[in-house]
Amino acid sequence: MNRSIPRIMGHTQVAGVIGWPIAHSLSPAMHNAAFAALGLDWCYVPFAVPPERLPEAVRGLQALGVRGVNATVPHKEALLPLVNALTPEAEAIGAVNTLLFRAEGILGHNTDAAGFLRALHEAGFDPSGCTALVLGAGGAARSVTYALATVGARVILLNRTVERAEALASALRERLPKAALSTGPLTPEEIERHLPVDLIVNATTLGMWPQVETSPWPARLPFPKSAFCYDLVYTPRETHFMHQARSVGAQAASGLGMLVHQGAESFALWTGIQPPVEVMRAACEQALGGM
Ligand code: NAP
Repeated sequence: MNRSIPRIMGHTQVAGVIGWPIAHSLSPAMHNAAFAALGLDWCYVPFAVPPERLPEAVRGLQALGVRGVNATVPHKEALLPLVNALTPEAEAIGAVNTLLFRAEGILGHNTDAAGFLRALHEAGFDPSGCTALVLGAGGAARSVTYALATVGARVILLNRTVERAEALASALRERLPKAALSTGPLTPEEIERHLPVDLIVNATTLGMWPQVETSPWPARLPFPKSAFCYDLVYTPRETHFMHQARSVGAQAASGLGMLVHQGAESFALWTGIQPPVEVMRAACEQALGGM
């Protein structure tokens, strides 16, 4: 592997990612490849921040002149009260995945929703006005449901813990009163009851490495061939859920596209420059290796 040493100088601008743990993150490889490809004097650093030290870490990043950071598990919700202002997306989703340190204060934004929509379009699916089944109701499902509601999709949210799906739907209805949202338990009978649909999204952690044999889709139920399958999970590259869809001839895409596009949105906000998306994707794929 060609391990060139970044030339970090006094004027080098710093961005990064905060999470706990953070060692597995693909974001440093993705952003540093983009900075290098554009010849930008920037670097992107992973910061392992334990939850109890988050307020201190945010103040420290600001004091050090860091230009912006991404935030991942478990900090996305905890950042809400720690910023000076929130964008409408971050406020509606109830989570921050991008911080911008500006002279006027810290701005909290969320690029997951825009990243998800871009990834869907790139995969050849236009979600405007579609009927979507979203499986899961955690943090990622919040961004996905918000994104789908903003393009006029009808969203059916199914989750193992149905109360969590209901809480998500009622929080989003407050922000988007016209959103068509319904909820239910994540059971084979409930899934079957809502078919046919246009889009089925896995927003659970099922199928994620190392539990690669698991899927939110019931083994006994054939995947509907006409539905588009989007799996937020991107390790492995083809999840069991994607395999279930492809084996009946349905189209499927992994969460790598969303990861790349949410990163690209953050990059553009920090630098004011459109990033080389294909360079970012190739860096992620290389970092994933044979996974
Ligand atoms: P989270 O907040 O922890 O939510 C986890 C979700 O998975 C919940 O709905 C949970 O249901 C469900 N779940 C977990 N184990 C389950 C099981 N055995 N059976 C049924 N449901 C189960 O996680 P998250 O942050 O939303 O992330 C979800 C997935 O999206 C992760 O794989 C993450 O890597 C991925 N993600 C991808 C991107 C991307 O850019 N591609 C971005 C964000 C997240 P309960 O509520 O019942 O516990």
